Amino acid sequence: MSRFPRAQFLISAAAAAQFPADRGAEVAFVGRSNAGKSTAINTIVQRQGLARTSKTPGRTRLLNFFELAPMQRIVDLPGYGYASGPESERLSWKPLIEALALRSSLHGWFLIVDARRGIAAGDDALLEWAAPDQRIHVLLSKVDKLNRSEAAKALRESTAALAGRGTVQLFSATAKTGVEEAQKMLEAWLKSKPEQ
Ligand code: GDP
Repeated sequence: MSRFPRAQFLISAAAAAQFPADRGAEVAFVGRSNAGKSTAINTIVQRQGLARTSKTPGRTRLLNFFELAPMQRIVDLPGYGYASGPESERLSWKPLIEALALRSSLHGWFLIVDARRGIAAGDDALLEWAAPDQRIHVLLSKVDKLNRSEAAKALRESTAALAGRGTVQLFSATAKTGVEEAQKMLEAWLKSKPEQ
């Protein structure tokens, strides 16, 4: 049984004016292209094909809003760090992300990082978008590609890189590692904002 049986696509926003009303709660999913973000969303929400993987054209340059339950949303951001792709296209969605970060309904950020890379240049710029009252949780994805000691090292290094600003967990959609942990975190964030 899915934890989010009523999950549905809401809108692909090309401009802040198209964002859903700033009410309720939402969590943004961000990550470098190919980090496994779409796969993580589909696995956490238990709905294959909800977020389209990077090989699917379209939608990828836009902010995609999904409703998981009434007044509870996730936002799938464009993957960043494309080596190809025109600079103008990359810059075009920056104001969108800045507008997103100002929303009072935005409770937190899930940052998807390939466990083999760890938190790297580009990821930290993204972390700076997060307002102080917005929580950050890092999914170290594709840990099925690492052995136990490599995974432990990745977890240690990412925890250190975050320097207390966020939490980290191991995740694999393939091996189903950490799925429940991620689901619980997401559910908790969608229910309430932390005490100030
Ligand atoms: P996105 O660009 O961040 O949305 O990444 P995708 O979800 O499209 O995944 C990028 C690639 O990584 C695809 O080939 C996926 O099949 C693969 N991938 C995603 N999650 C996992 C995982 O948990 N384990 C492994 N081994 N591969 C994964």
